[in-house]
Amino acid sequence: MGRGTEFGRVALVTGCSSGFGLLTSIALAKQGYVVVASMRRPEAQGALLEAARVAGVESSIVVKGMDVRNEEQVTSVVQQISECYGRLDVLVNNAGEALGGLIEEIPLSVWREQMETNFIGMVCVTKAVLPLMRANNSGRIIQLSSISGEVGFPGFGPYASSKFAVEGFSECLALEVKPFGIDVVLIQPGAYGTPIWDKGFSSMSSQADSPYQELLKSILNYSKRSAENAGNPMEVAKLVARIVAMKSPAFRYRTPFGTRVTMLAKRGLPERWFQRMILKLLARKS
Ligand code: NAD
Repeated sequence: MGRGTEFGRVALVTGCSSGFGLLTSIALAKQGYVVVASMRRPEAQGALLEAARVAGVESSIVVKGMDVRNEEQVTSVVQQISECYGRLDVLVNNAGEALGGLIEEIPLSVWREQMETNFIGMVCVTKAVLPLMRANNSGRIIQLSSISGEVGFPGFGPYASSKFAVEGFSECLALEVKPFGIDVVLIQPGAYGTPIWDKGFSSMSSQADSPYQELLKSILNYSKRSAENAGNPMEVAKLVARIVAMKSPAFRYRTPFGTRVTMLAKRGLPERWFQRMILKLLARKS
């Protein structure tokens, strides 16, 4: 990264080797941002760089190795941003993974890994950027939460718990940093066609004599059907690009339309009805 006040607005995006992170980096670069596209394994930057080349924005993308669980790496990347650009306008906390299974059977190590990546990682990156944003009295922090941040679905215990944590964290954060000109925005996507689900499904298994085998089968069937009908992840990248351009964004965005309907049902129906509805949906064969 070269030093310079000649740079315009600067964004840091986490988890950019695939999915929303990759597409969002390109969308922000097209909007004129210098994008510090961070990823756990920088050797996996090929797809991002190819997309940047096709979009004609290679010169606006700076790849940095950064595992959000590694505080030293996170601090170092933010320090480099501060030294090179003296500003950070946007942070997109996107890095995440989806670990699932049945609560009784998931080892504690998996719970820890899920919380460490999806939640503590987000806390770590957010804490690191706040001094820089506060110094400039402005900034926008966009959190990739999920519909699972407000609706618990069987089989997604670790994932939903981590995203509920993201929601609580973001509600507190929004109020603490507003006086410093920093906006916090939550995005709650439903199912979109990114690599996360394949990785998540492969982590779901039950023990051979498990009393949950039938439930797991219906969860996997339902989740696969949802994945087949999943939305185009470009929609989420475009939403992030719209949010960064807004003067006064809302606090939460739910996408696609079905996600908004699910939330209306959760809010409007008695909670036991809503839970029965989810179990009925799962029991459906197609
Ligand atoms: P993805 O698997 O393509 O992207 C996730 C990225 O995070 C990957 O590049 C992965 O390498 C990276 N990552 C994982 N652990 C990391 C770590 N410790 N440090 C740095 N990077 C790490 O999937 P995606 O769907 O693009 O997911 C992006 C975000 O969107 C996640 O937070 C996910 O929970 C959320 N989300 C996705 C969906 C969906 O349907 N795809 C729905 C709701 C929310």
